[in-house]
Amino acid sequence: MTAATNRVSLLGIPFDDNSSFEKGPAKAPKVVRDLLSSGSLNKSTELGIDLANNVAWQDAGNIDLVPGEFLEPIRKECDRLLADNHRLLSLGGDHSVTYPILLAYAKVFPSLTILHIDAHPDLYNEFKGNPLANACPFARIMENNLCGRLVQVGIRTLNTHQRQQAEKFSVEMIQMKDFYNSPLPPIKGPVYLSLDIDGIDPAFAPGVSHREPGGLTTRDVINLIHNIDGPLVGADIVEFNPDKDIDGMTAQLVGKLVKEVAGKMLMDLHQT
Ligand code: MN
Ligand code: MN
Repeated sequence: MTAATNRVSLLGIPFDDNSSFEKGPAKAPKVVRDLLSSGSLNKSTELGIDLANNVAWQDAGNIDLVPGEFLEPIRKECDRLLADNHRLLSLGGDHSVTYPILLAYAKVFPSLTILHIDAHPDLYNEFKGNPLANACPFARIMENNLCGRLVQVGIRTLNTHQRQQAEKFSVEMIQMKDFYNSPLPPIKGPVYLSLDIDGIDPAFAPGVSHREPGGLTTRDVINLIHNIDGPLVGADIVEFNPDKDIDGMTAQLVGKLVKEVAGKMLMDLHQT
């Protein structure tokens, strides 16, 4: 394979300094990699992509992070990999990591549609005095014009401040209460998926720091991924907290989602 060949790479981000409630998402990359190599699931995706022996599917390892620094290290590593024609599936971290990832992505893909699946809009101007908390990344992304559109799905924690922020930034929000009876706006490419595991109902995904009942089913989320109207050029899967998991249920779910997101990204690799 030449350096110029496009590939999809798994990038671990073991980071949870900006978790506003409980730490733990820093442990996600190791737990999910262990699950994926455990033999408990095969390497074929529902869309018919085989991840085994697939030269376009690689593991870029973890980003090395020291406490107190995350913006520049994450942005720089994403810059480097994107310049080397990787498309990134980032795994792990609290949701604050999406802002530096998008700082890198916006330079390569200047008018992305972001599909953001989450119980929370993460639009706080600041949270407990921290403007980079895991409750704030989409305020920073919108202020800095890092995407063309932000479409949020699964939201069920809207308050007055975040409603005002959503209006200010023209966010297209499909609240969970409306999800089953209102059509989704078209999600046209290039698309970036930011998948907060707490968007899924805690009955399916107990391993999160903020369990918010009344959420999406696993199947809802897999269908959302499959139905993205291409090309899916980047993704992150955040907020899985192995310390809150029950009998590995959420690890198994996240492993499945890594496969399905990777399969969709690989299908779309040569689509512009
Ligand atoms: Mn979030
Ligand atoms: Mn959330």
